[in-house]
Amino acid sequence: MIRIDARRAARRGVPDLTAFVPEQPASGGPDEHGLDRIARLSLNESPFDLPAGMVQAILEEATALSRYPDATCSRLRTVLSARMGLPPECFVFGNGAEECIRLVAQAFLNEGDRVVIPAHAFDAYQTASRLCGAEVTWAPLRCYHLDLDQALRAVDSTTKMVWLTSPNNPTGTILRRDEFERFLDRVPDGVIVVLDQAYAEFADDAGHVRAEDYLFTDGRVVGLRTFSKAFGLAGVRIGYAIGHPSVIEMLGRVKLPFNVSVVAQSAALCVLREDAFVESHVRAIRAERAFLQEAMTARRLAVVPSHANFVFTELPVDGDALARLLQRAGVLVRSGSAFGLPRAVRVTVGAHEQNLRFLASLDDALAVLPWEG
Ligand code: PMP
Repeated sequence: MIRIDARRAARRGVPDLTAFVPEQPASGGPDEHGLDRIARLSLNESPFDLPAGMVQAILEEATALSRYPDATCSRLRTVLSARMGLPPECFVFGNGAEECIRLVAQAFLNEGDRVVIPAHAFDAYQTASRLCGAEVTWAPLRCYHLDLDQALRAVDSTTKMVWLTSPNNPTGTILRRDEFERFLDRVPDGVIVVLDQAYAEFADDAGHVRAEDYLFTDGRVVGLRTFSKAFGLAGVRIGYAIGHPSVIEMLGRVKLPFNVSVVAQSAALCVLREDAFVESHVRAIRAERAFLQEAMTARRLAVVPSHANFVFTELPVDGDALARLLQRAGVLVRSGSAFGLPRAVRVTVGAHEQNLRFLASLDDALAVLPWEG
């Protein structure tokens, strides 16, 4: 006997959430199509392995595995504080930036609050908000760019939070300092403005907004950063939020005490000592991004110019159908349908051979799929 109807017993809203569907493994072992190597270009990870020497250094530094980790990541906080010119009290660390998204929601959202999220955004914002009982107002995009006028129009007296992303996932567009500042001037006091900058290192536009510039002039701004993308540590899970110390203190009150493992802290510290590695990764991705964008544009695809480590494009074919065909060829991409954009696809910029493989498979797929007008 089960003696519970879990759907009915669950917290309101939980049965309506969608569980994350795991992808195929990144590499190794034959998959269901008999291929033994998959180009996983669907999760915006780094295509480059950490050098063996760095892995060794991480493990050597992570010695106290029988002990709980430093609950406040104090060494990492000191290093980042010096790098970014911010007091240590401006940081809170999480099990990936995704945990920080949860922390912001849990610390600030009440049942019945409203949050504004740009349409087609990274799913974690709505999941975290809805879990806290908040309701979502969607702000339409303008030609795949975040439209801050639309976001403002969506703000009302019950709005507690606005979630923004720059560079944006999945479209790769950025917010500029001037438009962000005009937006801040018009947002009511007390509304938290989250600026998720998970992909910030890949942007090379001097006008790109930076959350760290606002923490002491506007305490409503909370920035999010991660070690998963440019720093190549998606597998160890570590990210952080930056904000005014009074805001960060509230996040610290809701976080689990030992949320960032000894290994994750050690890995972040080690990679921060390897500027050359990170810079060469970012340089390679920017060059490959330009190559991919040009190659896709040459195929007459409507590519949205990207500032991140992925490229988003409209398609003349169905995104799911394309993703399925590419998967059969061993190339995993994210269909736009995951973001409510069924005639689009997001492809992570991979290493050169992976990008070539994607383009060849793309050609094969576009040759057989029915084009829709
Ligand atoms: N923010 C955005 C916009 C993302 O795309 C991602 C990961 N895909 C994250 C946050 C979470 O990154 P992580 O939890 O790996 O730090």
